[in-house]
Amino acid sequence: MRNLNCPQCDIHRFVVKNEKGETILVTVTEAYEITTVHATDSLDGFDLTVIYCLGCSWKGSPKSLRSHTHKKKY
Ligand SMILES: [Zn+2]
Repeated sequence: MRNLNCPQCDIHRFVVKNEKGETILVTVTEAYEITTVHATDSLDGFDLTVIYCLGCSWKGSPKSLRSHTHKKKY
C-alpha cells in the first residue's frame, strides 16, 4: 500500500509522541493507518491523533494528509 506524504515537504516519515515525550518513527498508509518503521517498536501509549513530520515543522492529524492528494503534479 502507498504511504501518504507530508503536505509541506513531501516525505513519508513522521513521528508520534507519548506522554513522556518519547518519539517513534512511523509512516501513514492510504487507509490512514499508522505503522511503525521499525518492527520492534510498539505504538502502545503513543498519541496517534497528531503526527509530526520528520523533515519539516509540519504537524497534524493523519487525516489531514488527505487534503494534499489532489496537488498538481508536474
Ligand atoms: Zn514535512
